[in-house]
Amino acid sequence: EEVINRVAAGEILHGPVNAIKEMLENSLDAGSTQINITVTDGGVKMIQIQDNGHGIKKEDLPLVCERFATSKLREFEDLSSMTTFGFRGEALASISHVAHVTITSMTKDRPCAFRCQYASGKMISDPKATAGLVGTTIHIEDLFYNCLSRRKGLGTSSEEFHKISDMVSRYALANPFVSISLKKMGSKTPAVCTSGSGVVSNNIGALFGADISPDLLHVHYEETTLTTSTGTATFEAEMYATNPNYNSKKNIFVLFINERLVSSTTIKKGLLSVYNEYLPRGTHPFLYVKLKVPPQSVDVNINPTKSEVRMLHEQDIIAALRTRLNDNLLSCGT
Ligand code: ADP
Ligand code: MG
Repeated sequence: EEVINRVAAGEILHGPVNAIKEMLENSLDAGSTQINITVTDGGVKMIQIQDNGHGIKKEDLPLVCERFATSKLREFEDLSSMTTFGFRGEALASISHVAHVTITSMTKDRPCAFRCQYASGKMISDPKATAGLVGTTIHIEDLFYNCLSRRKGLGTSSEEFHKISDMVSRYALANPFVSISLKKMGSKTPAVCTSGSGVVSNNIGALFGADISPDLLHVHYEETTLTTSTGTATFEAEMYATNPNYNSKKNIFVLFINERLVSSTTIKKGLLSVYNEYLPRGTHPFLYVKLKVPPQSVDVNINPTKSEVRMLHEQDIIAALRTRLNDNLLSCGT
C-alpha cells in the first residue's frame, strides 16, 4: 500500500515547483498577506514556506497530511466552487509520502505555536509547543528521497529554481496585495520580492522587466454576459498588455482563471495573435490576463497535474477579449 501511495504521489508531484505551487496556494487560501519561500538545491534538499495566514488549529494538525483531509469544504461551502480549485486535500498528503515534512502553525486563539513531523500521510510526532507567530511554516526536506526515478527526472538545481521563480513571480503578479518573496537559502538577494502595495504595473516591472512598464495598457473588461449559440457566457477580465511600442524576442503570457494559474493553448494563441498585425514577425508582447468565470464552467479535472484547462464558451469569450484588446492597441497608434 505504501508503494501505491508513493506512486500516486509521484503522479501528482512532478518536481519541487508543483509542491511549492500547492503550498503557496494553501498560504493564499489561508488569507496570508506575507509569504516567504526559501529553497536549497532547487527545492530538492529543502523547501520552506512561511506565511502569516490564519494557521492550522492544534486539533487539525494530526489530519492535514491524510489523503482527502481538507478544511476547505467548510470554507467554500458551495461544492461547485470546489471544482475550480482542482483536486482537493491531496497536496500535503502526497508531499508527505515522498519527503520529510514538518509543520509549525499557530492560530490567533492560542498563546503558542505547535510543531509536528509527518511521514507517509501520518503525523509521526505529537504536536510540540513552541514559540511562534500566527501563521504556518511548512518545511519540506529531501523531496523524492524514496522515489529515485522521479529525482532522476529533475533538472539541475538552477533549472528547477528557474521554474520555481517563474511560477512564484506569476502568483506574485496575481496577488498584488500580498508580499511574496522567494530566495535561495543563504542568498541575500531574493529572486522574487514584492511589497504587497497593490500596484500591479510596478510588480510587472519588478518581476518581468522594467522596460515593460512604460508600454503597459490596463484593460478592464467589466462583467459581461454574452448570448452565444451554446447558451449564455458570463465573464469578467482584467488584462495588462504591452502596446505595440514594446516588443520582445519571446512572449510572456500569464493566465489566471478564478485565481488559479492555468495554461490554455487555445486562449494563449487566440489572444497573442491579435498582435500579429502590430508587431514585426518574430517579436512578441507581454500579456497578463486574469479571468473570472462561473466556477462550474471551468474544467480542470482532465488530470490533477495538468494545468491545461477547458472552459465553456471558450471561443466566444476569446473573441470578445480579442476585440477589446484590438481596440486598445488601435487607439495607441493614433
Ligand atoms: P487542500 O488545500 O486541497 O484542502 P492540502 O493538502 O493542500 O489540501 O491541505 C490540507 C489542509 O491543510 C488544508 O485544507 C488546510 O486546512 C491545511 N493547510 C495547509 N496549508 C495551510 C496553511 N499554509 N495555512 C493554513 N492551513 C493550511
Ligand atoms: Mg491545497
